[in-house]
Amino acid sequence: MFVSEQRAYIKSELVRTNRKHDFHVRQRFSWDCGLACAEMVLRARRVHAGIDARTLRSIVQTTSVWTIDVAYLLAALGLKLKYYTLQAGVRQEYRKQPFYMEHLDADSERVQALFDAAAKNGVRVEERAVSLEWFKSSIALGRILIVLVDKRFLTCQICSKSAQSLASSAVERLYPGFLGHYIMVYGYDQELDSFWIKDPATSKKSCLIRARVLESARRAFGTDEDVLCIADYTGSPCVSLLPFGIELQEESALNVAEVMS
Ligand SMILES: [Zn+2]
Repeated sequence: MFVSEQRAYIKSELVRTNRKHDFHVRQRFSWDCGLACAEMVLRARRVHAGIDARTLRSIVQTTSVWTIDVAYLLAALGLKLKYYTLQAGVRQEYRKQPFYMEHLDADSERVQALFDAAAKNGVRVEERAVSLEWFKSSIALGRILIVLVDKRFLTCQICSKSAQSLASSAVERLYPGFLGHYIMVYGYDQELDSFWIKDPATSKKSCLIRARVLESARRAFGTDEDVLCIADYTGSPCVSLLPFGIELQEESALNVAEVMS
């Protein structure tokens, strides 16, 4: 494709994907990108429509959100998912990373306990790397991925630098080095060899990132190559994971294929 053709193609695909995948959620704070991604999953699956960000925050009960927290949150809400990571636990070599420094000691025990009790709580953890081919086939199967990336590597083919939120650039200044950030990956364009993502740091409904860009962002040191793969909605929330006082309404999920096709 010529550059002009490619631009027109991206533009028309952007309109199409925004209309079809109209479930963007922007993060409210510097720390809640993982929760915003979880909220997007609920919207995409059209379940727990009435749940708000405040309720999600009260379920996780921490402002230092790890991938395992997001996994527990989604399991608590009845979503069927699998968590892929290189190491099911807290890696001590992250101790020197400014991004982790502040919370690692305080979080180590809590996070390890969540990993240890994962299977018992319906959170399936698999210790292995996944490939980009795996990403493509998972998306083709209608699955949604929440991916931990190093935000510094994330560049969108559509947005300019100025589209990035001021909040996130403030965080960038605060933490030199690895900058952990959660994004949702929900589409793949073979023509452009690029992935459609939703980045909770921006107000843009969809971003388009090249496969090799995603690859460097998600495999950067600090991510543990964490990926949450959300299959569908089982309709049986794991009530034991919900803090006392939070009750969920029974809901019936729509056909996932219809939502994701
Ligand atoms: Zn973008």
